[in-house]
Amino acid sequence: MQEAKILFEKLKIVSLLDLALITPSSYSNNSLSNELIVGEVQTFQAEVINVNSNGGRMYVVFNLQKLDIELKSVFFKVSAYHYDTFKIGTRHYIQGKITSFRGDMQMIQPKSIQNIGEIVPKYSTSIKDYQIKELIKFYITEENLYNEGLNRDEVSLLMKLHYPKSLEDINSYNIETLKFIEAFNHLKKLKGKKVNFPALKSLDGNIEDFIKNLPFRLTKDQDRVIGEIQKDLKNKDKAVKRIVIGDVGSGKTIIILASAVMAYPHKSILMAPTSLLAMQIYEEATKFLPKYMKIALVKQRDSKGDYLSADFIIGTHALLYKDDIPTAPLIMVDEQHRFGTKQRAKLEQIVAKGKVKPHFLQFSATPIPRTQAMMESELIDMSLITTTPFKKDITTEVIDRSDFSRLFKEIQSEISKNNQVLIVYPLVEESYSIAYQSIDEGRGFWEKRFKNVFVTHGKDRRKEEVLVEFREKGDILLSTTVIEVGISLPRLTLIVIVGAERLGLATLHQLRGRVGRLGLKSWCYLFTNDKSNNRLQSFCKTLSGFEIAKLDLKYRKSGDILDGTIQSGLQFKWLDLAEDEEIVKLAKDRLHSLI
Ligand code: ADP
Ligand code: MG
Repeated sequence: MQEAKILFEKLKIVSLLDLALITPSSYSNNSLSNELIVGEVQTFQAEVINVNSNGGRMYVVFNLQKLDIELKSVFFKVSAYHYDTFKIGTRHYIQGKITSFRGDMQMIQPKSIQNIGEIVPKYSTSIKDYQIKELIKFYITEENLYNEGLNRDEVSLLMKLHYPKSLEDINSYNIETLKFIEAFNHLKKLKGKKVNFPALKSLDGNIEDFIKNLPFRLTKDQDRVIGEIQKDLKNKDKAVKRIVIGDVGSGKTIIILASAVMAYPHKSILMAPTSLLAMQIYEEATKFLPKYMKIALVKQRDSKGDYLSADFIIGTHALLYKDDIPTAPLIMVDEQHRFGTKQRAKLEQIVAKGKVKPHFLQFSATPIPRTQAMMESELIDMSLITTTPFKKDITTEVIDRSDFSRLFKEIQSEISKNNQVLIVYPLVEESYSIAYQSIDEGRGFWEKRFKNVFVTHGKDRRKEEVLVEFREKGDILLSTTVIEVGISLPRLTLIVIVGAERLGLATLHQLRGRVGRLGLKSWCYLFTNDKSNNRLQSFCKTLSGFEIAKLDLKYRKSGDILDGTIQSGLQFKWLDLAEDEEIVKLAKDRLHSLI
């Protein structure tokens, strides 16, 4: 089968199990029927006893031999083939749908079929039916399925679905088994994609003093992840690829700094998505890193320190456009989801030497469901941080217009305590398509009643300056969702999200993560015209990003997709990432037992 490769491409599949998992969308039953049933596709042994044509249609009368009755049929699409095939006196197995026409039974557009007594699978794919059937016949054999690592039950189920012998075969399969095969196949593919490269250097710098001198004690999670990274970086045979995922405020910066200390006396590089974040990390680095480490900040403008001689280089995208960035055996990317794959790869290439690569650590504040993390850890090492150094004390509540006066008092009260308030509007300018105020419509109200009101939004060129200024002397900040970027506003204790039901749970979670970063009692108000919204109500009940990722999956499944922030989800036919943790675990165990 020469063109199999092309067909696989058309089907967008890469593994044998991908093909096996393209199960028939329906089956046609070619066994002979004993009686006529209106509405069903049936098969009979028949002899043509009369043929007529009229107005482009062909009318054929059959004698059903076993039943000894006559059956009329009508052909709407007629070609020479039909006249040739259905000649008077010829015998056929005819198959078609039985209808009732003015009290008379009829068969519509019957086909003359060759094989009877079979259950024939039908596939709905992007290639022709005979092509997919050829592929299946060639590749889906017991032997091949066993070779993929499936057990007897799994092989037998797939064989029954593709080559059914009875109705029993296609009606009594175990969905759990299909889920397992799907998970197992996905894990295998991820594992197959993983390629290891040798590392530029083994890094084993002593971090004891650095940790001892911190003004706080590490959380258990920080401690564990730092341990994992220490193990990683020591290894010269394998350049590590690890992603550290933890909610906003879970203390990832310290892990970044500890990694830079491990790299010392060799160099390390960190890329952050905005200059504000880069600056924030630079400030923390100067505060916490040992004085003997030279630190540089690389931005489009206002760079600090000499990056050519620095031990730890912190920068924005600007790093990607310098052609003299020194080779470093450790590179890191903060808030990795804000960069494209190409940008991340480019950073890696800048310092790689052929097949020898730097250790590569990525940090993300976008929690993914645990099941997804379990899967993806086949491709990239994962560290999940589920605790925060300050226990977050945030009350979340869904409110509407009728709650406004209470909200207003809360806002006054927070500001009187020298805390700050953030109000997130859906839009900058007025719009008829949205039933909520925009920043432009709302700002007058706040500016009249409060002194230090600041305004910024996604397209605002000055947004970083506004944020810095607000951090120092603002009371209320009005913005769109721009604030999502991880800038720290420690005095922020109240956030109002206007039109909350329009946003995805991941976005709401990022926004809520802005308040109470240092453990101050805080409030998150979801302002909506749809107070009974289930999704918002369940969002109020948990603060855990990993729980929220799970909820997100659940609501996404029910078609509740609202904005573009949802990560391009993993698509499975049977497996449910929100529910099937146990199955994913079993599939991982199987995979590892095979190696
Ligand atoms: P993330 O990058 O995960 O969102 P940060 O690293 O910015 O979080 O940390 C949030 C705040 O918590 C910072 O002010 C940081 O100095 C502080 N912090 C980090 N780790 C600890 C800790 N173990 N104990 C107390 N405060 C901590
Ligand atoms: Mg951070």
